[in-house]
Amino acid sequence: MIRQRTIAKPVSMTGIGLHSGAKVEVEFRPAPANTGLIYTRTDLEPNVTMKCSADCVRDTQLCTALVNENGVRISTVEHLTAALSALGIDNLFINVNAPEMPVLDGSAHPFIYLFTTTGVTELPAPKSFIRVKRKVRVENEGKWAELNPSNSGFDVDLQIDFDHPAMDKDKQHFAMPFTGENFVRQVSRARTFCFMRDVEFMHAHNLALGGSLENAVVLDDRGVLNPEGLRYEDEFVKHKLLDAIGDLYMAGRSILGSFKAYKTGHDLNNRLLRALLSDPENYELIEFSEEYSEQKGSIEFVDSKKSIAAF
Ligand SMILES: [Zn+2]
Repeated sequence: MIRQRTIAKPVSMTGIGLHSGAKVEVEFRPAPANTGLIYTRTDLEPNVTMKCSADCVRDTQLCTALVNENGVRISTVEHLTAALSALGIDNLFINVNAPEMPVLDGSAHPFIYLFTTTGVTELPAPKSFIRVKRKVRVENEGKWAELNPSNSGFDVDLQIDFDHPAMDKDKQHFAMPFTGENFVRQVSRARTFCFMRDVEFMHAHNLALGGSLENAVVLDDRGVLNPEGLRYEDEFVKHKLLDAIGDLYMAGRSILGSFKAYKTGHDLNNRLLRALLSDPENYELIEFSEEYSEQKGSIEFVDSKKSIAAF
């Protein structure tokens, strides 16, 4: 049986909020089977709780935000959800004292590190997957993203197209079979990126006040401004893939299918997930109650007993 997972014990972290620049504290607590990913804004009185789902993803300008029917939001959740998808964690309480998650280093790796050192626990219930049954595609102004049926688990393939001296044309495409280990090794450390002119514009308008070289790759017209350079030669496309993986995990369930996208972003990723879930003919929910099914594919998540040192 492929089981649901949560974390072994409560754990907290602090960091800076990308939008506010203020300190943010977040506490993660283990949750029982079939709970899902539950966010709580502990700074509001009374506290406001939201369940992570495709339908509550709203404003997607800078990041992926969860917004409830009363307009209460939690921003910058996509790097966390990407990490959770690789670790196979589908049940978790996330208590945050701000309208945004901490941005940390702009990648998913600090979450991977935190949860693998805390420990990941299997729960006595089968994990439920969303298996794609027919092609779903969304497009917008030459950009597109699609999901197709596949019997080999979750394959991901993404292409960007930037004309910039720091972005080699042959480093703008990346594809891999999604496994927890592939994600941790090849994608999880890719940081978000932006252009200096955009940073100046945003700061002038009181936006992205927490954004800095500590949590983003920043480019000017000629190259990368971060003194340490890039973490991967193809860090840009890998971060876009990290975002897409996080965006597609907003429903709290892993997808079995083949994801392919060209110049996609948060908005298109979310539209793809909603399009998939909008018609019951597009997918089925499946569990591997007994054993692995070769016909339907599966995903190997990070071994719950593996420590981060093993990577
Ligand atoms: Zn991102």
